[in-house]
Amino acid sequence: DEPLMRIQDAHRTYLARKRGTFNTYRNIQAVRGVSFDILPRENFGIVGESGCGKSTLTRLLAWLEAPDKGDIVLGGVSLRTLSAQQLIDKRGEFQLLLQDPYNALPPRTTVGRMIEESLLIRGRVPARILRERVTAAMREVGLPARLYDELPNALSTGERQRISIARALILSPRLLILDETLSALDQREQAKLIELFSVLQEKNDLTYVFISHDLAMVRKVCTRIAVMYLGEMVEIADNHDLFFKPQHPYTKALLSAAPTLEDKPFKPADYLLEGEPPSPIDIPPGCSFASRCPSAFGRCRMETPRLREHRPGSLAACHLLDAPANGASAAA
Ligand code: SF4
Ligand code: MG
Repeated sequence: DEPLMRIQDAHRTYLARKRGTFNTYRNIQAVRGVSFDILPRENFGIVGESGCGKSTLTRLLAWLEAPDKGDIVLGGVSLRTLSAQQLIDKRGEFQLLLQDPYNALPPRTTVGRMIEESLLIRGRVPARILRERVTAAMREVGLPARLYDELPNALSTGERQRISIARALILSPRLLILDETLSALDQREQAKLIELFSVLQEKNDLTYVFISHDLAMVRKVCTRIAVMYLGEMVEIADNHDLFFKPQHPYTKALLSAAPTLEDKPFKPADYLLEGEPPSPIDIPPGCSFASRCPSAFGRCRMETPRLREHRPGSLAACHLLDAPANGASAAA
């Protein structure tokens, strides 16, 4: 399959004021050379601890900001090459779902108006057609038509999420980016939304990217998952491989530590995740996980491991996996 979205060596660095100073600034390297493909109709998951660069990568994927270096190619079109107007037209195709549109929009906006707005930003639409399209979008996400003129303050979080989905759907997207979208919901609401996502996927050929810290949810929903650490991807594998045959020491530690994850291939004590990741301001040379890795050996502190395919479809960045004989003897 041709990828729907291709992320090519994306980098993003921010300038941030050094704590306790007024005018000393430092570079925070939030995303450091990330490359991966999102395939049509897959549910791609991105996981990692807070501060790993997930939020920055999310903004890059949604092209809310451009990478400093690298590019994102959507359906064969480089986003970097688009003019402002072309970008507005293209934006309907790949959208970041608002966490809570109720908080993002003026408080006295009706449900119908919130969904309309999504279309109107892109040009004039005759009133009658507008109403029809909004009603159709509401029906598609399971919002009753009587809510059209209601204010959303009485709605549940799940219903508000549906508004957000309707706002996206009305623009006929190909890719939806969901940043912690299911995290705030209780189990029942979550299950209902997962079902809705699957129905919409079948019907509209949708592709999803789920960015989340919630491994149990990602395991339920995603077909392929990428694990981020300190601005890089350390492992990308399909669902079963990632959860039952993880290759990277960080992935193993992350799974061991996940409190809500049942039925794991190893016990929490097998891989302890101790300490904090290094600061994204002073990133040491070599493997970024070396300071916490129980298997680290000499080469790890000098040479950065590259993300490579070690099993069909499974990529990981770790020297231990490069040459099993070398790694094993060096780690012993
Ligand atoms: Fe651990 Fe070395 Fe592998 Fe990094 S490269 S994860 S430090 S063994
Ligand atoms: Mg973050």
